Amino acid sequence: MIEVRGELPPDQLPSRDLVLLREGGEAWSVMMRCPCGCGRPVELPLIREARPRWSLQLDGDGHPSLVPSVWRRDGCRAHYFVRRGKVVWI
Ligand SMILES: [Zn+2]
Repeated sequence: MIEVRGELPPDQLPSRDLVLLREGGEAWSVMMRCPCGCGRPVELPLIREARPRWSLQLDGDGHPSLVPSVWRRDGCRAHYFVRRGKVVWI
């Protein structure tokens, strides 16, 4: 997982890694490319006020898990979990 301060333009997203956006010490969003192969940017807000929002956990090796699952309701309709740094398809 890569950490970035502030924002990251979607066209600078890495192809196979999560990007954690931080601002003032607070992790506020996770961005990634859709792992189905469509490559679309996916943004997952972490801040408490966001609806929907996700929660991010890191295991002892720094592998990220996200709760709940990610479900794109338009486009490719990909539905998956991120668990310990791996994509688990539903
Ligand atoms: Zn996709």
